[in-house]
Amino acid sequence: MRIYLSPPDVSDAEREALVRGFDSGWIAPLGPEVSAFESELAETAGRSRCVALSSGTAALHLALLNAGVGPGDRVLTQSLTFSASANAVMYTGAEPTFVDSEASSWNMDPDLLADALASKDNTYKAVMTVDLYGQCADYERIEAICAEHGITLIEDAAEALGATYRGRPGGSFGDTAALSFNGNKIITTSGGGALVTDSDAAADKALFWSTQARDDAPHYQHSELGFNYRMSNLLAALGRAQLIGLEAKVDRRRDHNKFYRAALGDLPGFEFMPEIEGGRSTFWLTALTIDPDLAGVDRETVRLALVEREIEARPLWKPMHLQPFYSSNKMIGGGLSDRLFDHGLCLPSGSTLANQEREEIVGIVRAAVAAA
Ligand SMILES: *Cc1c(COP(=O)(O)O)cnc(C)c1O
Repeated sequence: MRIYLSPPDVSDAEREALVRGFDSGWIAPLGPEVSAFESELAETAGRSRCVALSSGTAALHLALLNAGVGPGDRVLTQSLTFSASANAVMYTGAEPTFVDSEASSWNMDPDLLADALASKDNTYKAVMTVDLYGQCADYERIEAICAEHGITLIEDAAEALGATYRGRPGGSFGDTAALSFNGNKIITTSGGGALVTDSDAAADKALFWSTQARDDAPHYQHSELGFNYRMSNLLAALGRAQLIGLEAKVDRRRDHNKFYRAALGDLPGFEFMPEIEGGRSTFWLTALTIDPDLAGVDRETVRLALVEREIEARPLWKPMHLQPFYSSNKMIGGGLSDRLFDHGLCLPSGSTLANQEREEIVGIVRAAVAAA
């Protein structure tokens, strides 16, 4: 049977939750499950408010609109990420400027961020960090830098629900954070996301925009551009069942990471994504780099050996500054994310991955190295 990188982890509890949502009669989009899911998510992310949405990308979009980002503006975001982070900036008509990663977290380099904001041509409107593979960025420094410059900070925590950094949960950093419940994330609603914040004004506005910006009137009246971004009641019921198992799901992914480190860490040239000081990553995906000069094999050889055995393994995110669509955007710093992309590999890490499956994976990787 094919082994996937991060498949959904659902059981009878989720099935029953969906049926409960169905039987309650709240099939029409909103309903009590949405409000309950929102309170539970707000608590998990250490925030006072949550707005459940149709995707994590929608949450990023509304977070940017809340920051006043619009046509002609520039937003600093990290290059090494999934395209959704940068695309959300484009939806507002603004332009993403990319920042390289730092070696200790693989997330936005705080020194490069500080330089960019201190420079004469700082016309940036917001900063969007990404918690790569479930690891929080260096918020100790990044929050302080953003506060010093009075610039809005948005946390793309799509992969980091259940992570912590210096005692605070993933989703609690910056002005607003975005969560994702896409099918491959830590928990899933089959598709969905949420915006979390401590600002009542931001949450109220996100709610307004996400339901087509309907003014308070008996007829349909609109003074602003709206979106159809709200999560449905049925999917919120599914999300609530998933959330109950969040801790166990994160623990399982962390256990995979520990296993892979122990089973492959001795191989020359193999280096795992470091865990930032004070942080507890979800290890949404276990990521490592393979230095071909030391290992005797390159990443592609190892990846293809896995793919040949029906095991899904992928390179790290291709940095945005290397994407054809974003190739003319400004890139600050450079080098590290390029190298991570050249040599990086993500291994199957889902919470449903069995012990015997991960042993098989390790066996294939070691055989590929030995054959070199
Ligand atoms: C998955 C993901 C998103 C987008 O979330 P969707 O719910 O799929 O829209 C955004 N950023 C990162 C880093 C992601 O991994």
